[in-house]
Amino acid sequence: MTQTIPAPTTSPRKVLLVFAHPEPRSLNGALRDVAVRELEAQGREVKVSDLYADGWKASVDRADFPALAPDARLVVAAASGEALTTGTLTPDVIAEQEKLLWADVLILQFPLWWFSMPAILKGWVERVYAYGFAYGVGEHSATRWGDRYGEGRLAGKRAMLMVTTGGWEAHYSARGVNGPIDDLLFPIHHGVLFYPGYAVLPPFVAYHTNRLDEAGFEALAEQLRERMRTLGTTAPLPFRTQNGGDYLIPSMTLRPDLGAPGATGFALHLEDGGQTAAGMTAA
Ligand code: FAD
Repeated sequence: MTQTIPAPTTSPRKVLLVFAHPEPRSLNGALRDVAVRELEAQGREVKVSDLYADGWKASVDRADFPALAPDARLVVAAASGEALTTGTLTPDVIAEQEKLLWADVLILQFPLWWFSMPAILKGWVERVYAYGFAYGVGEHSATRWGDRYGEGRLAGKRAMLMVTTGGWEAHYSARGVNGPIDDLLFPIHHGVLFYPGYAVLPPFVAYHTNRLDEAGFEALAEQLRERMRTLGTTAPLPFRTQNGGDYLIPSMTLRPDLGAPGATGFALHLEDGGQTAAGMTAA
């Protein structure tokens, strides 16, 4: 049961970078500028959503659904779907959705804070990813569980994380005390990006950045420029598509004949069992 899924574009022209750092003079700010300059030098059109600078509202609440009757109980997914359908989402959310539909590539850039994205970026995902836009898409029936995990509104586009950490690369290795970076980023890669259809590129991870000197910065900047030059040709992480036949319906479990015998965990959801290289290294 193979579905027709648009292949990720190999010649991306339009890039949206969502930037989540409160300080423009930070390392993250400097890396953002490196990325944008390189993309523009390659002739790509770039839009930046600078969440702190824009005063992005980070949490979902009643104010997100101005058309909801004042006495109605707020059920977020239902209100979100209704607001999408009736065009009554708030203008800030609509503007971000339009940027997502415009862009061939989405880059989420952030410092790793408490092993995940800063709250403001999580709030961007929660508010912008409306029901019917990023989830609740496609046929939901006894034989099909929607268009998600490789299919959906954002299929055919690419996405990538740009992350800085305080911890060393070894701390994030297979036996590192922080846990493997691929595991820590899995909920974002698989749950936030692959879910609505993006082909997810390996992340750009700059480790051990707190005392980065000028030479370290230059080396990092060059690695980043190379990643920007190769956005269209870098092979995506080989996540298994939900509707490609690898999962049983309705349990949505991986077929027993797939994956290494006895294997469990996130790597099962990659066709190569997680052999794909993780992020880049700094410092
Ligand atoms: P900055 O602090 O702005 O800069 C870092 C270094 O880069 C400085 O020494 C700066 O001088 C230097 N630098 C070199 N060249 C430049 C240049 N051109 N421009 C600017 N700076 C330059 N780390 C983890 O590993 N795991 C966690 O879970 C984690 N949780 C955190 C939670 C919180 C709330 C906070 C505040 C930090 C946490 N950290 C964690 C550390 C955090 O990830 C790093 O501090 C962050 O990634 C560094 O990025 P930055 O842009 O803030 O760097």
